[in-house]
Amino acid sequence: MAERISDRIGGISESATLAVDAKAKAKKAAGEDVIGFGAGEPDFPTPPAIVEAAQRACAEPRFHKYTPAAGLPELREAVAAKTKRDSSYEVTAAQVLVTNGGKQAVYEAFATLLDPGDEVLVPAPFWTTYPEAIRLAGGVPVQVDTDETTAFLASVEQLEAARTPRTKVLLFVSPSNPTGAVYPPAQVEAIGRWAVESGLWVVTDEIYEHLVYGDADHVSMPAVVPELADRCVVLNGVAKTYAMTGWRVGWLLGPADVVKAAANLQSHATSNVANVSQAAALAAITGDLSAVAEMRTAFDRRRQTMTSMLDAIEGVTCPLPGGAFYCYPSVKGVLGKQLRGRRPRTSTELAEIVLDEVGVAVVPGEAFGTPGYFRLSYALGDDDLREGVGRLATLLGEAR
Ligand code: PMP
Repeated sequence: MAERISDRIGGISESATLAVDAKAKAKKAAGEDVIGFGAGEPDFPTPPAIVEAAQRACAEPRFHKYTPAAGLPELREAVAAKTKRDSSYEVTAAQVLVTNGGKQAVYEAFATLLDPGDEVLVPAPFWTTYPEAIRLAGGVPVQVDTDETTAFLASVEQLEAARTPRTKVLLFVSPSNPTGAVYPPAQVEAIGRWAVESGLWVVTDEIYEHLVYGDADHVSMPAVVPELADRCVVLNGVAKTYAMTGWRVGWLLGPADVVKAAANLQSHATSNVANVSQAAALAAITGDLSAVAEMRTAFDRRRQTMTSMLDAIEGVTCPLPGGAFYCYPSVKGVLGKQLRGRRPRTSTELAEIVLDEVGVAVVPGEAFGTPGYFRLSYALGDDDLREGVGRLATLLGEAR
């Protein structure tokens, strides 16, 4: 008898990050004092000028209608202009597809590029969604492990060692979720040149481009390696830069034939992104970057506080992340020890103990392909951050 759920969909695992968030929220709703480090979204409201643009659009009947599937023409133009402004990368509006968040751009990029059996190099730790999107498209994610000894950066040698005749795409993410690692410009260029020489495509996710700190610098791979442009798909969106996660606007940029094909897919799947949300995104990316500058200052301060507090815990090692809003400490030194009558062997077990014992929610490294770590978002208020990491420090300090 046929299974109720197809193999293809039955094989998808629940998003571990959303699961942790849901468990923490449920405990909170039940009156428990929980501090959540699971969230992947800025804790700031969307800037008022963007909200006002959306309010105006709401009142205008033309925003009550469908737009072209690939997006409002003026928004596609604006994305091209913004890409030139922020990345010095020149594309035309025809090379822009407006998507339902960066997530839909991820799915459409892999669905458009992969045939069954095509391999994608996926540096790990990786954001949970990528392997699922690759598998759903029939592709095969090939994990390339990195760790804190190389600041979670993959080298050309490592990538080359993982390449096979079936490799079609390299997935490149900088700044990274979950590690916050930012590739130095010279390494972006070296990897881009290797991809060109190897005849690979690159899908590069730049959604955290504006969240870089200290001397870290974001560069866009096809801007530093122009020869890559014909085989490069850039993913981006307004969620992180403008605190607009709920508005669901992202985009992909690429060669016109790829964008056209992906737009065909989208036209049958979801049609256009909500018209009012597109009006909001237009206001966001044609406005200035002052709101993200303010968020960056707050995130930078929290990043330093969180990193130094985590790194001071015995058995925990936390490199200073250069971007995004996550710390990714190793907790390997705590595993196997006695802790409140239990003996956690894995980071998942340890994360459960942390939530049960001190009401602190973190995402275990298993969610990102690398057991032995925690991901903590620092997109939460300074007081909660200190309180939550303080509780974690006290608890882990008891491990014997
Ligand atoms: N890429 C990365 C690396 C992310 O962390 C996220 C959000 N967690 C996204 C893409 C997608 O963001 P959204 O769909 O909210 O635009």
